Amino acid sequence: MKTEKITRRGAIRKMAAVAAGVAVSGHMPALASVLASNSRPEDADGLPQDGPTVSTLKMEDFPLVYEGPDVVFHKLDDHLWIGNGHLMYNESVYLVEGEKSALLIDTGTRIADLNGIVAQFTDKPIDVALTHIHPDHAGSVGCFDHIWMTQAEGVSVPRGYTGKVSYMDNYQKFDLGGRTLEVFYAPGHTPDSVLFIDEANHIGISGDAFGSTNLLMNCTLSTFVNTARDTLAMMYDKKIYYMLPGHFDGTNAETTKRVYDLLNIAQGVLDGKLEGEPARGNLNRIYTYQGVRFNYNDRLIR
Ligand SMILES: [Zn+2]
Repeated sequence: MKTEKITRRGAIRKMAAVAAGVAVSGHMPALASVLASNSRPEDADGLPQDGPTVSTLKMEDFPLVYEGPDVVFHKLDDHLWIGNGHLMYNESVYLVEGEKSALLIDTGTRIADLNGIVAQFTDKPIDVALTHIHPDHAGSVGCFDHIWMTQAEGVSVPRGYTGKVSYMDNYQKFDLGGRTLEVFYAPGHTPDSVLFIDEANHIGISGDAFGSTNLLMNCTLSTFVNTARDTLAMMYDKKIYYMLPGHFDGTNAETTKRVYDLLNIAQGVLDGKLEGEPARGNLNRIYTYQGVRFNYNDRLIR
């Protein structure tokens, strides 16, 4: 049992390292060490803890294919494009193309003619789906006459949107023809946050559910802990090396290690073992770790 686990971990680490193009040390992750005396043994035992903390993806390594006043697009692979807006912080939209259709994930804060811009990259019909309805992700839905979003408590259709709305089920699949994206509910940042998982290509698109360099926790911590635990298990199961976040600056793709760290931070706060620095605003605590700021409300510690 023990041997099998180590072998599996080793194999996964190797794959993740190949994907990241980096050598990964065999050391226990720093945060896990910090929390070793704090974390509950059943947690540490049941979940994988290794892999690279941050990705080595760099935006400048990918061809620049469009530059306009509102957005810059890079081509990540032959059928995947990322557009970054600049009104918030690298708010990211992703266009994924299959043989019969394409899916645009998120629409940025305000990108004029977004439908026309993405139609330059693909001649396939384009569906639009939202990772969540925050205005820096759903801001340009008006360019499209149909959107997919997630139904959750307190979540309404993006303001002013008059087109057709469809709601995504958990594990719903968008079959684009030779490329499939699976919806994975991930409440925490918001109740309606979802991931889109491209298992065959070992990547996910995660909106603000994990990081985006600044994880804003608008649900209870236990909601996020459950999401992080399920997500981590799913990432290992499906060999998802990276999740491309909703604010991708080219360096902050989410790795399994990072999701593990975020899980531990949330669990640590929940258990009263960690406490963030005081901050202004509704999210009145910030715990900072390895480039991620974990922002929470100390009245939602439950
Ligand atoms: Zn958001």
